[in-house]
Amino acid sequence: MGADVIDGNRLAQRLRERVAEELHAVQTSGLRPGLATVLAGDDYAAHAYERHVKKLADGLECYYVSEQLPANVEIADVQATVGKLNADPRITGILVLRPLPPHIPEAEVNRSLDPLKDVEAVHPENAGLLAQGRPRFVPSTPASCFWLLDTYLEESGHDPATYYAGRTMVVVGRSDSVGKPAASLGLLRNATVITCHSRTQAAGRLAEFTGLAEILIVAAGVPRLVTGDMVSEGVIAVDVGINAVKDEATGTTRMVGDLDFESVAAKALAITPVPGGVGPITDVWLIGNAVAAAANAAWGRAPLERLSRLVHG
Ligand code: NAP
Repeated sequence: MGADVIDGNRLAQRLRERVAEELHAVQTSGLRPGLATVLAGDDYAAHAYERHVKKLADGLECYYVSEQLPANVEIADVQATVGKLNADPRITGILVLRPLPPHIPEAEVNRSLDPLKDVEAVHPENAGLLAQGRPRFVPSTPASCFWLLDTYLEESGHDPATYYAGRTMVVVGRSDSVGKPAASLGLLRNATVITCHSRTQAAGRLAEFTGLAEILIVAAGVPRLVTGDMVSEGVIAVDVGINAVKDEATGTTRMVGDLDFESVAAKALAITPVPGGVGPITDVWLIGNAVAAAANAAWGRAPLERLSRLVHG
């Protein structure tokens, strides 16, 4: 196995130091960033994520509010909760945790967010700005993929400002929160971007496209979807997937990604593990987005070097 395994925990620690500095800088200027999460229902992963964000926010001394609603909540109550947070000056960033209960239309909830507090860029205005290449906010998961890629490139002697230009980037997954914004960020870096999804696989063409990737980002939520025979030698492979898989032999459950780690690592130049890859960076980015939102609201576009570098390379 020759690939560099990119250590997300180490990079998350580095990012945490950066975000702590930014938080301190905006607080010194009199701004008070605050993050709120809205959680509806009993989803295990959403609750685990909420607890994790709270711990991180507490550690960074960032104001944090958690709104929890029952699984049988009405859409009007979810929107009323979002409206209350929109109006609360202590809150600069709002995240509605997914999945929402199936009877709650996600798009309607997203539309009720104040675009200036919509740190995950799910409101149509922010999604549109990102698609047009002039994002107000960069959603935390795709941002983390590029933060990780940029840092890896820098540490291995490449210039992330030019590395992507013309290279083939394949994104597997087209969700509004991960796949589409990741593809938009790839285009912003002048990569040649191919997006694959479930119908690509149904048409029997997934390996045809993943095999073209020089940079591969997989966000499908399908355990070990991409195997070594589906990638080319020297690919840089980023695994966003988080899948709980039961080991039939031992009865234990463990997390695996969307890449078949061993076989892809045997051909890759670099690869992210699951757990310990993209995941730990995402939580820190989210807090960083609330800091950026505070700066955005007070000063116009966020003058945070971390963000402008992400967008402009
Ligand atoms: P999602 O909303 O369910 O979207 C999944 C996407 O993958 C869809 O576009 C779907 O295609 C595509 N897809 C599904 N099966 C496929 C297949 N067999 N072949 C090719 N494409 C396929 O999921 P998501 O929110 O984007 O999340 C994706 C994964 O990332 C999940 O495992 C999630 O837990 C994980 N995640 C991790 C983090 C983190 O911090 N690391 C954050 C967010 C999400 P269609 O559009 O055709 O249905």
